[in-house]
Amino acid sequence: MANNFIYQFSGSVYFNLTNRCPNNCSFCIRHIKNGVSGSELWLEHEPTIEELMRALEGMDLSSFKEAVFCGFGEPMCRLDLILAVSPYLKERGLAVRVNTNGLGDLINKKRTAPLLKECVDEVSVSLNAPSKEEYAFVCRSVYGDEAYYAMLNFTKDCVAEGISTVMSVVDVIGEEKIERCRALAKSLGAKFRVRVEIKKDTEY
Ligand code: SF4
Repeated sequence: MANNFIYQFSGSVYFNLTNRCPNNCSFCIRHIKNGVSGSELWLEHEPTIEELMRALEGMDLSSFKEAVFCGFGEPMCRLDLILAVSPYLKERGLAVRVNTNGLGDLINKKRTAPLLKECVDEVSVSLNAPSKEEYAFVCRSVYGDEAYYAMLNFTKDCVAEGISTVMSVVDVIGEEKIERCRALAKSLGAKFRVRVEIKKDTEY
């Protein structure tokens, strides 16, 4: 299979580093699609740093403004790759964003915001729900109740480290929950974004 750990979407270059994820969100795109924008994103194997660097060295990145770590899985499962490749992407003039479920500290068993601060411009955390119970219902994490608090703490940590931090929800949760999430994001010092739910027939 061709390299599908780098793909293009919406004018940015995206990195699909892993298909692993400790959550099993009810709205996860992986339940209904095999990829994004014509790119099949189930990996045959996770890329090594060398494979990723080799692929990047042969690429013209001049038409992209932003590099995004966001794949068919949780990118913070490959913190090693994010930390290794981001400085190179920045050297090549790209802003770097990580789209994450916010569970990187649990996955890597350490505080990760201070590490990201060195090489990432923006972190986008999936908030998904305004309470522990609602989050558990939607995200079905292997970490149980711990997941919600870890996601909030990671967000706070990113804000404290001075990283531009966004929390996002999917519009399907409804206005009342969206407003509670907006207030929660604000209380943590994060920006807030509402994403459109991707359905089976959504062009994506
Ligand atoms: S955190 Fe992201 S990749 Fe993981 S199950 Fe949820 S939507 Fe899918």
